[in-house]
Amino acid sequence: MEQYIVSARKYRPTTFKSVVGQQSLTHTLKSAIDSGHLAHAYLFCGPRGVGKTSCARIFAKTINCLHPTDNGEACNECESCVAFNEQRSLNIVELDAASNNSVDDIRNLIEQVRIPPQIGRYRVFIIDEVHMLSTAAFNAFLKTLEEPPAHAIFILATTEKHKILPTILSRCQIYDFSRITIPDIVDQLKYIAHNEGLNAEAAALNVIAQKADGAMRDALSIFDQVAASSGGNITYASTIENLNVLDHDYYFKLMEAFRTCNVTEALLIYKEIRDKGFDSLFFINGLAKHIRDMMVAATPQTHKLLDMGEDVAARFISESVKFHPKFYYMAMDLCNTCDLNYRTASNKQFLVELTLIKLCRLLEQPAPTPGGSGNNSPQQHKGASAQPQQSMQRQSNVATPTSATTARPAAASKPAETMPARPSATPSSSSTAEPKVAYTPIATAKPANMPPRIMINKPQQPAGTQNATAAATGSAASQRRLSAFTPDQMLAAWNDYIEQHPTEKVIVNTMRTALPARINDTLYEIQVENVGQVEFIKTRQTEIVEFLRQRLDNDMVAIDIKVKESGPAPKFWSPREIVEDMVQRNPQVRNFIQELGLGLA
Ligand SMILES: [Zn+2]
Repeated sequence: MEQYIVSARKYRPTTFKSVVGQQSLTHTLKSAIDSGHLAHAYLFCGPRGVGKTSCARIFAKTINCLHPTDNGEACNECESCVAFNEQRSLNIVELDAASNNSVDDIRNLIEQVRIPPQIGRYRVFIIDEVHMLSTAAFNAFLKTLEEPPAHAIFILATTEKHKILPTILSRCQIYDFSRITIPDIVDQLKYIAHNEGLNAEAAALNVIAQKADGAMRDALSIFDQVAASSGGNITYASTIENLNVLDHDYYFKLMEAFRTCNVTEALLIYKEIRDKGFDSLFFINGLAKHIRDMMVAATPQTHKLLDMGEDVAARFISESVKFHPKFYYMAMDLCNTCDLNYRTASNKQFLVELTLIKLCRLLEQPAPTPGGSGNNSPQQHKGASAQPQQSMQRQSNVATPTSATTARPAAASKPAETMPARPSATPSSSSTAEPKVAYTPIATAKPANMPPRIMINKPQQPAGTQNATAAATGSAASQRRLSAFTPDQMLAAWNDYIEQHPTEKVIVNTMRTALPARINDTLYEIQVENVGQVEFIKTRQTEIVEFLRQRLDNDMVAIDIKVKESGPAPKFWSPREIVEDMVQRNPQVRNFIQELGLGLA
């Protein structure tokens, strides 16, 4: 029976060409050998498992090869090469400084340095983990390093370059080995799988490569483990199960939920992931990385930042076009905030769920003006924490008129797909593509799943309002009314509403005492005495806002309701005081009263 050799050994590179992921470095080494410009000491730095020792061995073999090939590689056939390949060459001496770091160990090595090579021209001394040498050993070594015999070449290898004394650094040629990229690892694994007659899915190899974190040796060990447990059929499913990795399909499904503003789906996916035993923080960080990869995949220029196998990258690239870049920025920000708050959160599950809900709402509300969406945030004043408010403001940032026009087509490369999903939920909205439309249906459809904070936002939605507008304007739904208006005109419209509803004393009285103050062109704020009034106004907000929009011919009109900050104690107004106040604020009221012959009982 054939003896089993672990892949890390079996596929250890034996030529510069077969070293994975260090092309520029091996090229330099080959050139040095070619030109005969060899230094006496080299320092190979870099993370573990990236080929430092392998390169040192190949280097030793190549400089001793009796008949090097034309492309600068060892022939693997001459006496010296064969001795190297059979690991019996005396021209290579390896010392692991991690376990042999005393002065005596170094003295033994120095003894050997004196002996000239039997075959070939050089003897190569590899000191692995050289930063582990004791200070005394370093000092003992320094002299030899300064004046080595002509046949001696030292290759020092370390994972921690900063621990090497400057006196050593200055005597070495330094080579920095980089992490091996995931595509490079995947390619090598593909080659090995093919060579071993194993069936391996590209996505599975990608998972292995990611798990190996840039170290080829680790990748090969993991590969062996997965190959053994899956009986030679390395599928994506068997790999993620074996390595306890979260299936990226979950993340793709979540992205779809974000795209369709499907809070329910997002929360259920999260539950499924938790049920599988994955940690929430791990999940949210995985999601952040996924979103980052999607963002990077969206632009051809940044494809090189996608550290993954080609096949997996192709999926990211094809999915990434479904979102506008701004979605990615905001989504990454939300994930980051969640990560930062995670450790201190008393209810971690809630935090993650809240984040998912916010992610679902990012595309829900690409309202085209600051005024339109701006009215969301302040209305949270009562009870909503800073966080939702923040996110809302982010939304309103996106929702600038310019961005809206760009955001829409790109937010979904297939707008036709995205948009209809929303109106369909609101029968009244018919063909309206108003994004806000989605608010109402989602909110009402899933109140049970929504944290209370979100509920607070709900009634304020001018969303319904816009529906009404859209319905009213019929086919002109897509044409927004955007006429400019002055604060005086706003006030006049406000008073018109009051005048048209004389019988509804509570609302009218409240409106009389809370006149709209300009925040920006379309966003106005009213201040009321107490929370009760806020709630009350909210019950009529949609109707009032719609009235104002029609009157002012501007669909972006929005009203914020605030409780007055510590002003004078709320005062009870007599009916006469109210009338006088009204008249004072708007002289037209006097005419109104006179014309209709109104009077106070
Ligand atoms: Zn040879």
